[in-house]
Amino acid sequence: MIANPAQTTRHHLANQAAPDFSLIRKICACGNASTAKQLSQHGKCAACALAAIRDAIMPGDFAKLQHMLGAVKQYPKSKWGWRNYYAAGGGQTHEAMQRLVVAGLATAGRAANEMTYFHATRLGCKAAGLDGAGIKRAMEDES
Ligand SMILES: [Zn+2]
Repeated sequence: MIANPAQTTRHHLANQAAPDFSLIRKICACGNASTAKQLSQHGKCAACALAAIRDAIMPGDFAKLQHMLGAVKQYPKSKWGWRNYYAAGGGQTHEAMQRLVVAGLATAGRAANEMTYFHATRLGCKAAGLDGAGIKRAMEDES
């Protein structure tokens, strides 16, 4: 496409006069700017998506997610993601894991001896506070 400065200006002015739908969708409901891709995929900015996830799970679930990833204060943050599994039997632990799965924070892996191994997803790693290197570490350990 050949750029036409005059046309670009007209489009810009039109947007200012009456913001079109695509422009509105680049602002999250919270008022923060977000990418069109993020908003079309999640319907909200990354911060709001994370807040919605935290609302969807129980407080204790989040601690289990952190435990799953070794993202606990006994370990320096640079080590977080050194593990990525949580063996759940039946009952409350399993229910907690299911909530994490529904929230997109974890996936169910292999089952053995009446235990199911759950692993944090990339989103789960992010939610637990892992940085890029930690997420990479955790994803490699997912076995
Ligand atoms: Zn938002």
